[in-house]
Amino acid sequence: MKIDFTKNSDGLVPAIIQDAQTRKVLMLGYMNQEAFDKTQETQKVTFYSRSKKRLWTKGEESGNFLKLVSIKNDCDNDTLLIMANPSGPTCHTGTDTCWGEENIASFGFLSILEDTIASRKANKDDEKSYVASLFRKGINKIAQKVGEEAVETVIEAKDNNDELFLNESADLLFHYLILLQAKGFTFSDIVKVLESRS
Ligand code: AMP
Ligand code: ZN
Ligand code: ZN
Ligand code: ZN
Repeated sequence: MKIDFTKNSDGLVPAIIQDAQTRKVLMLGYMNQEAFDKTQETQKVTFYSRSKKRLWTKGEESGNFLKLVSIKNDCDNDTLLIMANPSGPTCHTGTDTCWGEENIASFGFLSILEDTIASRKANKDDEKSYVASLFRKGINKIAQKVGEEAVETVIEAKDNNDELFLNESADLLFHYLILLQAKGFTFSDIVKVLESRS
């Protein structure tokens, strides 16, 4: 890997640290050639600390190491993107990321949809909302809806109409997300179970 350590006069390149599984950005640090070499040697992410003025292996005191997964160079070889598995909270303030976030995976639009469903659950009285009406009817009714959409998906799977199959699949997933929330869970809880099996 050809990294341009000469672009900055201090010989440092920024390294963005991303969780290899959740894809959350955990922290940003700086590396010189030595820090880069040590990272590859030890498989523990090591920076050049501008305040300590020495090599700094993240976790050397706290034990919260960043176990190296992969390193990528950017388009003009002056910024690193490092995938790692953290062995604990990455920020010295105790939070998972240096931006105060929880290190949980985001599922893009599905996560936005889950947030909407959660707000309907919190405002069950909303007369205009279909989702709120399902929460008012309760778990049994929601579970029954999931069953119906599952059957409809199965029926469409046996036909050759892709559009109907995709629509029933979307209905199923939507109602399944509602059932999860009704039971007090989220999609990420299910993903965790799947991960633990692999
Ligand atoms: P650690 O590397 O986790 O053993 O922490 C040792 C010291 O490094 C801490 O006391 C902080 O001064 C500093 N430090 C740890 N984590 C971070 C971080 N994510 N960003 C900046 N400084 C940090
Ligand atoms: Zn660049
Ligand atoms: Zn921090
Ligand atoms: Zn349907």
